[in-house]
Amino acid sequence: MALSDPSGGRSGLALNTATLGHNLDGYGAGWPPERIIDACAERGLAGIVFWRREIGARAYEIGERVRAAGMQVAGLCRTPFITGQEAGTDGEIKASVEMAAALGTQVLTVVTGGTEPGTKGVIESQRILADRVGRIADYASGLGVSLALEPLNPMFGGNRTVLMSVNDALRVCDWIDAPNVGIAVDVYHVWWDTGLDDACAAAKGRVLGYHICDWLENTADMLLDRGMMGDGVADLKAIRHAVEKADFRGMCEVEVFSARDWWRREPEEVLDTMIERFETVC
Ligand code: ZN
Repeated sequence: MALSDPSGGRSGLALNTATLGHNLDGYGAGWPPERIIDACAERGLAGIVFWRREIGARAYEIGERVRAAGMQVAGLCRTPFITGQEAGTDGEIKASVEMAAALGTQVLTVVTGGTEPGTKGVIESQRILADRVGRIADYASGLGVSLALEPLNPMFGGNRTVLMSVNDALRVCDWIDAPNVGIAVDVYHVWWDTGLDDACAAAKGRVLGYHICDWLENTADMLLDRGMMGDGVADLKAIRHAVEKADFRGMCEVEVFSARDWWRREPEEVLDTMIERFETVC
């Protein structure tokens, strides 16, 4: 068992439990939160990001357990969709804010949902998104929660997102103009963007989350075939440099959706591998 390295290294590392398949039913080893917390603490991780489906009515209890183990709840995934055919109600979206607050995390990730019914293109949906997130932002602020708008790879435009680049997300942040609304930068979604350095510079002080994985050269499933860091073609060090230049000081969050590979392995192996890759290629 590797020991914690308080001088650096994994002290800046968080597990997003999607890396163990916990974002969807029927995948991964199905460890309860307590077992994940213990395994991360033993390995000296700094934080954990959970998915709502794991938390249920135990948000406060799980948050306390994470802190008792010497870590932080680095974030919660995620709000219900805000736009599109599958958008949640205001009540459902507020409930996700309340869950983040009860967990004791400051960052709630927002995957926006798709284009609004009856619209074409993305700008009108982005305007609607800004209105709706703006309505929630005050409520979240009162509970100490920030909202991180996560742009997705453009292939998810249509049914999952109306934000397809960091610049898209920043435009919507500007429209909302609330101090607790920023963005999340996910390697999987932005690795291709040769304008990323400039976009991150424009995002200075507004990057609330940094999600790492890799883009496999031959991606077999757009949603569930992400690579472990080092196995693909993303320039992980350059992207990290860009977000750190944007004053991001939070944890690097490993988020590998991998139904074909990593979700079939033992969680211990996944955790040990992600730590080793974080310390060597990120
Ligand atoms: Zn992400």
